Amino acid sequence: MDEEKPECSDGRILLVEDDFVNGKIVSRLLEMDNIPTDWVRNGREALDFYQKNKNSVLMVFMDLQMPIVDGYQATIELRKNGFKRPIIAMTANAFSDDDVKSAEAGMDDFLLKPVSKIDLFMMVEKWMNQENN
Ligand SMILES: [Mg+2]
Repeated sequence: MDEEKPECSDGRILLVEDDFVNGKIVSRLLEMDNIPTDWVRNGREALDFYQKNKNSVLMVFMDLQMPIVDGYQATIELRKNGFKRPIIAMTANAFSDDDVKSAEAGMDDFLLKPVSKIDLFMMVEKWMNQENN
């Protein structure tokens, strides 16, 4: 068991999600894949987490609709504060312009809820690999 090393031992994925069910699913899936994950409940908490853990946040999964500070505003603030790594939007609205609006806010990609295991891991693979290149 101890020999199983996390894929990114120095880094973590930050999950920003106010919905308990989706937050639980995504965080469990990532941790099952040995990816350390921190789950915060809104954009304000995400910004606080980033300030305290600047170098360890490898990638962010960002819900769009959240109380206090939503995903768009949180992304704009993270980018202003120098966060250059991937931010992936999560939304349940398949037929909205969320993809356009999230790109405008500075997000890199887009994941539809309910999040499936295969889509989630494809997204991690795609963007983590890009980070390593
Ligand atoms: Mg939400």
